[in-house]
Amino acid sequence: SETLASRRDRAFHLHPSSNLAALRTEGPLVIVRGDGVHVIDEAGNRYLEGMAGLWCAGLGFSERRLAEAAYRQMLELPFYHAFSNKVAAVSAELAERIVGVAPAGLSRVFFANSGSEANDSAVKLAWYLSNAVGRPEKKKIISRRRAYHGVTVASGSLTGLPFAHGDWDLPAPRFLHTETPHHWRYAKPGESEEAYAERLAAELERLILAEGPDTVAAFFAEPVMGAGGVIVPPATYFERVQRVLTKYEVLMVADEVICGFGRTGQMFGSQTFGIRPDVLTCAKMMTSGYVPMSAMLVGDGIYRTLEQQSEKLGVFGHGFTYSGHPVAAAVGLETLRIYEERDLLAHVRRVAPVLQEGLRALADHPLVGEARGIGLIGAWELAKDRDRRESFDPKAGVGAQVVKNAQKRGAIVRVLPGDIIAFSPPLIIEAHELRELLARAEAALDETWEWVRANGLV
Ligand code: PMP
Repeated sequence: SETLASRRDRAFHLHPSSNLAALRTEGPLVIVRGDGVHVIDEAGNRYLEGMAGLWCAGLGFSERRLAEAAYRQMLELPFYHAFSNKVAAVSAELAERIVGVAPAGLSRVFFANSGSEANDSAVKLAWYLSNAVGRPEKKKIISRRRAYHGVTVASGSLTGLPFAHGDWDLPAPRFLHTETPHHWRYAKPGESEEAYAERLAAELERLILAEGPDTVAAFFAEPVMGAGGVIVPPATYFERVQRVLTKYEVLMVADEVICGFGRTGQMFGSQTFGIRPDVLTCAKMMTSGYVPMSAMLVGDGIYRTLEQQSEKLGVFGHGFTYSGHPVAAAVGLETLRIYEERDLLAHVRRVAPVLQEGLRALADHPLVGEARGIGLIGAWELAKDRDRRESFDPKAGVGAQVVKNAQKRGAIVRVLPGDIIAFSPPLIIEAHELRELLARAEAALDETWEWVRANGLV
């Protein structure tokens, strides 16, 4: 049978954050099976999946009920669509169930198939609404540097990471970026979290005023920034930002693709951080990653405007073939039933301290600059010099070394730009499994520290 070695030269599809040189020399890690919070490679090695795949598999990798729900739905009604006044019953039921757990005021669900599509849809929605209310010049969109909102032309423009822009000719016109609320890295010496949050809100206001408030339609933000470095905002940040947005009639779009469905210990990160979104996008854990599905939620006010404008135009001009796909909807519905039956949010809140305290216990490890997180998402930001907040040379690959050393020990974690080691395990993880994950990651840090010293990187 085929081995990893023989697969090495095959054309794998590329993906953001693929290290192409390592892919060429070492080949990919080929995963063949899932078992609870573990995945198993083709050689039979088991890994504790500290990232739930790609922040996705909330219910782990072997939940029979999700597989059975998909199978039953395939027998019952494998496909239907939401075009021209039709809808699959199961999609309508999922929409209703999502509204039942969504932040207050969000009452309508538009389904798509990926986080990028949901955010792309939210950009188009903001433009459409501005036209509908006779303000066609109100079209600029603001997001934050280091944000990750996807890779399509619009969502890639929202993304605030260099790899999504550069040679891709993005961001497109009308997409602007403001500061990232990363206190440890960017606050002035001695600046409190509150003063820092105030300053960032003032900077946002300055940007809106400089551009002209009549030209700014929407602000996009992840409650906790994921791929940009697991950045937890100061407690007062969103409150201050929203004051500015309200003042200039700028829509607040919460990108809950990572935080949504329990990551922070509540159903949505918006609930954790006091965000009152006009629009909310979600994906990933909505189906525990089993099938692709995403959604955009809006309130009655926006929905009525859409309805009126569409009536004027004769049709609503946006939607995908697979929007609300019945099999995906059946999996989403079963996911939410399991959340309720097992009181999964209470479980997350119960085990989260094991992760958070475990990460912070190594805050003074010589490689760690800051340990941070909330709920079941966390990170170590590595630093060459903690007090001076000095990073390692990105080319040295220190973070990648930690990931490699963890993988050797049967733990999957991820390195984000800036040598940030991210943790985002399945929500079903038990306390003893979290301790095991942390122990393996700590051993990986120690080994990497030896390697850093041996290579004269400090
Ligand atoms: N928003 C956030 C916060 C994300 O983390 C991601 C994906 N990691 C996306 C949007 C894009 O989702 P997708 O890859 O499904 O297009």
